[in-house]
Amino acid sequence: MPVSEAYDIAVVGGGVAGCFAAATAADQGADVVQLERKSAEEAGHIACGDAMKSPTDPKKYPGPIDMSAIAADEDVLINGNIDQIEWWDEAIDVKKVLPYEGHSNVIDRYEFGQRLLEQTAACGVEQHFNTVVNGVLQGAQVEGVRAVRDGEPVGYTTKLVIDAGGSLSSVMANVDFVSLDAEPETSFEEPNYQQFGAAYREVLDTQAPVPYDNALVGKPLEEMGYIWYFPRTATQINVGLGLQMNKEPVELVDRLKEDIKGRPEYQEADFDTVNGMPNKLGAALGLRRPLDSMVAPGYITVGCNAGTTHPISGKGIRGAAVTGFSAGKHGAAAVHDDEDGFISEADLWDHNHYVYVRHGLGTHIAVKEPYNVAASHAGMENVRAAVALLPEDAIADVVSSDGNSLGVRSAVRLVSGVVQNALPLVSDGRLERLATTKRAVGRTLLDFVRTRRYVEKYERLYNNYPANRNDFFEWRDARDALDDAFNDELGISANQRKY
Ligand SMILES: Cc1cc2nc3c(=O)[nH]c(=O)nc-3n(C[C@H](O)[C@H](O)[C@H](O)COP(=O)(O)OP(=O)(O)OC[C@H]3O[C@@H](n4cnc5c(N)ncnc54)[C@H](O)[C@@H]3O)c2cc1C
Repeated sequence: MPVSEAYDIAVVGGGVAGCFAAATAADQGADVVQLERKSAEEAGHIACGDAMKSPTDPKKYPGPIDMSAIAADEDVLINGNIDQIEWWDEAIDVKKVLPYEGHSNVIDRYEFGQRLLEQTAACGVEQHFNTVVNGVLQGAQVEGVRAVRDGEPVGYTTKLVIDAGGSLSSVMANVDFVSLDAEPETSFEEPNYQQFGAAYREVLDTQAPVPYDNALVGKPLEEMGYIWYFPRTATQINVGLGLQMNKEPVELVDRLKEDIKGRPEYQEADFDTVNGMPNKLGAALGLRRPLDSMVAPGYITVGCNAGTTHPISGKGIRGAAVTGFSAGKHGAAAVHDDEDGFISEADLWDHNHYVYVRHGLGTHIAVKEPYNVAASHAGMENVRAAVALLPEDAIADVVSSDGNSLGVRSAVRLVSGVVQNALPLVSDGRLERLATTKRAVGRTLLDFVRTRRYVEKYERLYNNYPANRNDFFEWRDARDALDDAFNDELGISANQRKY
């Protein structure tokens, strides 16, 4: 007979989202258990580029976790040394440099993860490590999870499960959403694996300082993939690559090896180590907009699994923190206020509304997604040409986390910037090295401008994300109609559409 334990809330996962959710819910008075499959020593070690902006800004990292104390810990490496983003397209000798306003950091993710877990425990959360969740308990609502703890089966009975198990969480995969009690159907959006990517990274110690120690460097890879060099320090670099899962699979480790083989700074580089092991990890990551609804009866999902990371403008760590905080806060309130023993989607709706409207991170991410859709449609060669031609400020507008401001004046500036950049690229034949045509590149630039117009429409719609679950289905119909219009405008056929 498996052991059975009861809590108000089980949080699955000891990553950023799990820690923010568990700490916040416990701080609100809920009885919380946090379940993590790794050991206490290994937990917090996450595959990531480790770029993290404004860690002490309470809007970006809300809740009871003391981020100032974490930032003050020198081992976490929050030193603000990053002040620009660089795009290197070496095959056509193009380098774009975008200033990084407010600076950023490349952190030691393991140290950061460990500090988060310590603070979560200090908020009163019970933490069970070496605990692999492998099933859910469900009736009208999700009623808990099944797990194997230190090799023994355990059942956790709960009023709410917060699924912070990361991309394509196995917890979510175990929930039968159709049979949960929700009218006319659950609002929860089950993502498709093709909307995710596969990524891998190593942390390398170089012999000599790299000349780009103040920059997040990105490079194009075949099939809409990308390579990054993110320097923690001048001699410790997080190098990695990511690819979309809807493209042909690529051997990530070999492809990264092939890239750094040609770079002198990595010739004698050694692996950084964590717990005596080489610091290299791979994982899936969301390359999609946040889920339309992240709640189902007795269940909320957060972080990477909820699609709150964005391939262009980043925000993975921050998205995990904000959604974790929100789930902890609104989940604890729903449990506290429960009178009928049933935690419905309506009871949890404040989570969705906070993420999209009251905080707004969900909307910021969702409205950048049309650029990803347009880029995938254009194909890598055309995207490379467009990036080479577009002025830096237009690119910054796409990759920045904030507004979209291409008005009439900036449209004129956009055209003159493209013409200015085109002259040298065309005159010395560099654009011809790309496997595309002038016509296709022109079409990609036009689609970029068209996409901008749709970004504004999406922004208006997401800013009006419903405060009430009753209005959700009508809102989703309107968003689907906008998706259709956008896809039609770009000429994306029905079987090629992402959503
Ligand atoms: C290679 C890569 C590079 C990235 N680069 C950046 C970047 O530079 N900056 C940025 O902001 N974001 C980046 N991201 C995204 C960012 O890392 C994620 O968005 C963020 O870590 C998501 O946090 P999370 O808590 O949702 O999930 P995770 O960090 O994945 O945590 C999930 C936790 O749940 C545990 N778990 C999973 N399943 C179970 C189970 N069944 N039972 C028990 N425990 C379980 C895991 O062990 C893990 O500890 C990157 C992602 C990847 C993959």
